[in-house]
Amino acid sequence: MGGGRLFLLVRGEPETGVSPLGQKIARLIEAQGPIPVSQFMMLALHDPEHGVYASRNAIGREGDFITAPEISQMFGELLGLWLVEVWRQQDAPKKIRLAELGPGRGTLMKDVLRAARLDAQFLAALDVVLIEASPALQAVQNATLKDSPTALRWSAKVEDVFGDMPLFLIANEFFDALPIHQYVKTESGWHERMVTSDDGKLGFALAPMAVPGFTVPESRGDAENGAVFETSPASIALAEEIAAHIAQQGGAALLIDYGHAGTGFGETLQAIARHRSAPLLESPGTADLSAHVDFAALAEAVARGGASAYGPVAQGAFLQALNIEHRAEQLAKKNPPHAKAIQSALQRLTAPDQMGNLFKVLAVLPPTAPAPPGL
Ligand code: SAH
Repeated sequence: MGGGRLFLLVRGEPETGVSPLGQKIARLIEAQGPIPVSQFMMLALHDPEHGVYASRNAIGREGDFITAPEISQMFGELLGLWLVEVWRQQDAPKKIRLAELGPGRGTLMKDVLRAARLDAQFLAALDVVLIEASPALQAVQNATLKDSPTALRWSAKVEDVFGDMPLFLIANEFFDALPIHQYVKTESGWHERMVTSDDGKLGFALAPMAVPGFTVPESRGDAENGAVFETSPASIALAEEIAAHIAQQGGAALLIDYGHAGTGFGETLQAIARHRSAPLLESPGTADLSAHVDFAALAEAVARGGASAYGPVAQGAFLQALNIEHRAEQLAKKNPPHAKAIQSALQRLTAPDQMGNLFKVLAVLPPTAPAPPGL
């Protein structure tokens, strides 16, 4: 794979401005050859020394990007009430796992547990596991959750959410950080997009060979030359595994992310630094990387796993169905000086031109369970 010179070791000085991780990735490529976009994403996010999540400060107002739970406590509280309600709908099992994938600063779990306090039996049933790859963020979560009403455990491995009990799982902006592959249509078929290095400068190139027999889902429509198809095998496999577990053991998952319903083509991989779009390859490790979630692919994976998928529905519609307006009024009454800030948070979470439409919610339930609230 890759042209001859890409395999040569380049000894020149790296360009000024290339981040330490950019240099490390360039050296890797020079030694081993071009890497798929998926591997670039993994390295940029998870390199233990220079990756985005190695720093504790990527998420939040001061960081690179802000997430729904960081905007308002209403988000996590409503998710908490949703979980309690779905648990009741399944006859309130006495022991359940409550898992969160990628808890960020720990704010969502804090708000979920605050809401869960309303039902002492739910709280008593919980075995809470937080799945976090980044030691730095685990430490932040630990501090945020120091007054947790229930014991908490951490693991870096997603497999650790699966135990011998019903699974109630939440994941907000987790799947968008899982690695994607990109394929580009040409006269000769679909070619994987690779990251190359030229004198230490990272660039994109297509793998010289088309992937034999490569097809895209019919729902995408016809692909012109140049069309880009993104797929996240890691996301699809995980969604199927979660679904299979929930189908067998009971429980529910709520997957929330920005994404699309699996039609058309286009690239969505993006870098965000300090709340602004940044170049993808220039300084890996200094900008968050994410891609739109393909909710059609996730819903199909859920069905293959034997569970029922509800949605995706738009985040705005979901939160309104859970009566976020009422919660906003309550909070504003309790704290009049904050009424304006609460109103603006409500708008940010629900307005169609803000997070309301782009963000979507997919729920996973056992095939025998009743329809959950809000979907
Ligand atoms: N859910 C949080 C944070 C979203 S950012 C919020 O809404 O604010 C993505 C989170 O997932 C980070 O905590 C990141 O460290 C974690 N993460 C990303 N990929 C992961 C993986 N493969 N395994 C475990 N955690 C991961």
